[in-house]
Amino acid sequence: MPAGTLFIPGGSTYTSMDVDDHAEELASTLGVDKAEVKSDLENLVEYSVPVDEAKQSIRRKYGSDADDGAMPSTKDVDAVEVSDGNVTVTVRVITVGCRTIQYQGDEQVIREGILADETGTISYTAWQNFGFEPGDSVTIGNAGVREWDGQPELNIGQSSTVAVETDSVSVAEHDLPCSIGGHTSLLELRPGNRGRVVDVEVVEIEERVINGRDGQTTIHSGVIADESGRLPFTDWEARSTLSSGETFRFDDVYIREFRGAPQVNLSTFTTVEPLSKSIAINKDAQRVAIGEAVDSGGVFDVEVTGTVLEVREGSGLIERCPECNRALQGGQCREHGTVEGEDDMRVKAIVDDGTGAVTAILDRELTESVYGGSMDEAMTVARDAMDKSVIAEEIRSRIVGREYRIRGNLSVDEYGANLEATEFDRTDDDPATRAQSVLEEVTS
Ligand SMILES: [Zn+2]
Repeated sequence: MPAGTLFIPGGSTYTSMDVDDHAEELASTLGVDKAEVKSDLENLVEYSVPVDEAKQSIRRKYGSDADDGAMPSTKDVDAVEVSDGNVTVTVRVITVGCRTIQYQGDEQVIREGILADETGTISYTAWQNFGFEPGDSVTIGNAGVREWDGQPELNIGQSSTVAVETDSVSVAEHDLPCSIGGHTSLLELRPGNRGRVVDVEVVEIEERVINGRDGQTTIHSGVIADESGRLPFTDWEARSTLSSGETFRFDDVYIREFRGAPQVNLSTFTTVEPLSKSIAINKDAQRVAIGEAVDSGGVFDVEVTGTVLEVREGSGLIERCPECNRALQGGQCREHGTVEGEDDMRVKAIVDDGTGAVTAILDRELTESVYGGSMDEAMTVARDAMDKSVIAEEIRSRIVGREYRIRGNLSVDEYGANLEATEFDRTDDDPATRAQSVLEEVTS
């Protein structure tokens, strides 16, 4: 017998080089130290365990039940790393969202969503239809791992396999971003979500014609609401079935960011079903601290309470460009030069609540209300004074230093945070007003 050959009682012979190779392969698939695996393997082999069985028991010892050493390692979802080339996972399908992409000149439908096991969740893209649906338990073999948004994501393609598991894979449900199937409340939706299901009431809807990639397209956009809140939506298919005041289930919507806040999008893959139930929609805006809202990058329909520190330039009586609606400066539009301006009124007020500041923008109606007169009246006053700035001055004297409750849509851009106000009301919380109302209650 040549030197360096182990004799295996039971028949087979393996050279020590073989053991080394097997140890190398095990160490790399299991992600453990080679010397340790090799010593285990040598021991087992010396005790006449056939090498395949020996390898299998070592895989079990190190927590992998892959039955073929050539397969990518089987991993828990939270152990998948961007550096893993390929992995095998046994998971529950949480969401499936469909999308069309252009791939090498062809339209191709891809599926995206979330998979989960007991240890966590991971997003995926499936480049062909493997037929799995939300709720299914599957083992996905040889899925590629790539980085998306700083996180590992599974790429399920031609070289992957999907096998249905008969035992359902348990998941940590309280850690899921939505229910199994994708049901999500509007408040919990985030830009980038796909394949979600929402039960909503259409609060506002309008038809718009936009210039899209393929010429003019009619779309519907508006506002939807559920028990948790309200969000803007766009139906790119302009379905005639949607109407305000009615409730619907939108199955397979995707979420994009619009002015810093989530926007719900209905695609050609979205199914829309009328609901027989009514929804107790939340008519109140979420109340937030200004600092928190600004940090989040934007929030649709919020309520903040703060003190007006300043009324900015460009408040009071202004003129707008008839072409683009921009406020004119010195009779000039930034885009269209000298134009015949159209009169308007607005307030840009800096509001601070101690956590942060926003510029609240009041439209003509709200501005007339804080000014205490109509735009026509303001124009007369300005003509008499031969100075438009008296109007801004009057507004300044009425609101600066006072506390207001402001509802609107908050967005953040390079110039700062703006809150387009839909409501702008004095708070009743100052001590004098509170004392007054208590007095009225007592005496009435
Ligand atoms: Zn213009």
